[in-house]
Amino acid sequence: MPADILSLDIQYLKGVGPMRARVLQKELSVSTVGDLLYTFPYKYIDRSKVHSVAELTEDMPLVQLRGQILDFEKGGAGVKKHIKAFFSDGTGVVELIWFKGLKFVENTYKVNVPYLLLGKPQRFGRRFSIAHPEMEKADEADSHPTPLQPFYTVTEGMRKASLSSRTMQKLMRNAFETAGDRICETLPQHILESHGLQGLRDALFTAHFPDDSMALPEARRRLKFEELFYLQLDILSRAVQRKEESSGFLFPHVGHAFNDFYAHHLPFALTDAQKRVIKEVRADMRSGRQMNRLLQGDVGSGKTVVALMCCLLAIDNGYQACLMAPTEILAEQHYATLEKMLQGCGIKVCLLTGSVKGAKRRPVLQGVKDGSVQLLVGTHALIEPTVEFHNLGFVVIDEQHRFGVKQRASLWEKNIRPPHVLVMTATPIPRTLAMTVYGDLDVSVIDQLPPGRKPIRTLHYGERDLPKLYDGMRAELRAGRQAYVVYPLIEESEKSDLLALETGYARLCEAFPDFNVGKVHGKMKPAEKDAAMQQFIRKDTQILVSTTVIEVGVNVPNASVMVIEEADRFGLAQLHQLRGRVGRGADRSYCLLVTRKQNLSETTRRRIGVMCETTDGFRIAEEDMHLRGPGDIEGTAQSGLPFKLRIANLVGDTVLMSEARQAATLILQQDPGRALPQNNVIWQQMKRLKNGVADYSSIS
Ligand code: ADP
Ligand code: MG
Repeated sequence: MPADILSLDIQYLKGVGPMRARVLQKELSVSTVGDLLYTFPYKYIDRSKVHSVAELTEDMPLVQLRGQILDFEKGGAGVKKHIKAFFSDGTGVVELIWFKGLKFVENTYKVNVPYLLLGKPQRFGRRFSIAHPEMEKADEADSHPTPLQPFYTVTEGMRKASLSSRTMQKLMRNAFETAGDRICETLPQHILESHGLQGLRDALFTAHFPDDSMALPEARRRLKFEELFYLQLDILSRAVQRKEESSGFLFPHVGHAFNDFYAHHLPFALTDAQKRVIKEVRADMRSGRQMNRLLQGDVGSGKTVVALMCCLLAIDNGYQACLMAPTEILAEQHYATLEKMLQGCGIKVCLLTGSVKGAKRRPVLQGVKDGSVQLLVGTHALIEPTVEFHNLGFVVIDEQHRFGVKQRASLWEKNIRPPHVLVMTATPIPRTLAMTVYGDLDVSVIDQLPPGRKPIRTLHYGERDLPKLYDGMRAELRAGRQAYVVYPLIEESEKSDLLALETGYARLCEAFPDFNVGKVHGKMKPAEKDAAMQQFIRKDTQILVSTTVIEVGVNVPNASVMVIEEADRFGLAQLHQLRGRVGRGADRSYCLLVTRKQNLSETTRRRIGVMCETTDGFRIAEEDMHLRGPGDIEGTAQSGLPFKLRIANLVGDTVLMSEARQAATLILQQDPGRALPQNNVIWQQMKRLKNGVADYSSIS
């Protein structure tokens, strides 16, 4: 028997054996007693309440009934074969029905024996029916009262090995009998005290056998904290390690390029938030370590100029800088903006995208190689092997959610040392995700919009209100403003989507005969797209009909109306991005969300409601997480985590995540050498967690 009882092989636990051990390993990755105890119920049902048949209603979830079977009835043939039973508690009769395990039902359940059953009632005509109820003899149920019954995930494979939720509960009981008194604490005493957490043994016991619902939250909090603490400790120690290992270029000077731009070319005063971020980047650039920084800032918060000024710092120190955007349109737009801002500064900026070809491309590549191009703007064409830099020192990646980690990594090869990297994103990342998925990047936040922005009014229109919407649009256009009209474009329904866009375009041309309507979508050639964008920028067109190609980064301050067609087909983050295209000039702007369906789903209504209510990107991001549900986000996010979360929830446990991160930060600060005896327990547990992962792979 191993010294550490939790690492005891699961097959030696009473009730398991080699066959079930294989199933548990395969289905739940449970190979030790410890793994089993850390397999938590996904829900608990209050079994202190027994309903009567007479009070059943259709919307009840699982209910308990106490009564007897009056009679059985067999029916159907082949796959439709089933057994029915008529179950009465004296107040009425419900029908029980089984389609599977018929032998078992026949052999086990008897008439006129009191049972306690659990199931979901469904109405058929006047009678309620319960399919596949969970049944137990009433006297047996009474002998082991479980006020809150835990429910464990049971897979098909487990069911075949007769591992039901009930059996899991029995195994838990056996595990406690074997291991209970020897479960060692996994958090140091000082953390338990300072965070008001209960001991591991008690918490585990309560999680599996809660006496009442009052005890449960404290127990779960302790277990979640432990999980999040080790998650954060792992993420943070990786960051510390990376900083120790990778040295970065030193940019000690603030020189002519930066100072001249700041004094003579900056078209506005920087916001305090922008200044703070530039300072944070400067500190990194002087630290001797490679910078890996995430810059979060809501749409329109002014990230571009911050990026530019950081590029100037690199240039002042004799290095080249580059800025990568996810699309050609955005790269061109950035190039135009930067070139304009840098006019008269004597800095050489060039554009490199897939469309810069042949005779135009050669001098760019040459200039990048010999160092005369100081700032290169482009798409991922920048990281192709044919692009050789003279001395690349700083890279800005805009809108990072479109850039893969791999693409980012290939930048590392562009110089003898990895350049400093600033990743900018306008999609606000919910705090929990920022702390995990990007937990090893340093984070800067621009949490302030440039002054003079008027809030954007967001309104929802149904099909019938369209004349009103057109009136509103017309008023803005007459006042010299411009409008975007955006259509969804989903690959699977591309044809009909493009048709909707063309139809919409024709309708707008008809409804606004005094104005020019342009259009741009992903199926157009780059040159056509560019021409359409340029016409809109030059105000030759007043209305721009488009697909989401304009989602990211387009900047036309004179546009004050954003109409989003079929808004119900967009996600919250996307709606927020699109809305950010207006509200950039000084005038009031409008975002008009159009839905054409009669009945909107509850989620859609909430999504649109949130948009109309707030423009706060962080609130929207959090709401998005809640609406999309843990499954969706956890799927993506969990795959990037060093450990699988068994009880904590990336979506719901924001507060606890911050607390755990703080605790982990403190440990790394106070005990960098891992020498303090009171923290021994932490490093041992870390080792165990990491070994655990290795063990699994050697077994399967
Ligand atoms: P985003 O963060 O979405 O990339 P941009 O960098 O495109 O935002 O900036 C949005 C607009 O705000 C641009 O027109 C830019 O010139 C302007 N801007 C940026 N910073 C300031 C500032 N401090 N004061 C006034 N306008 C600013
Ligand atoms: Mg931008």
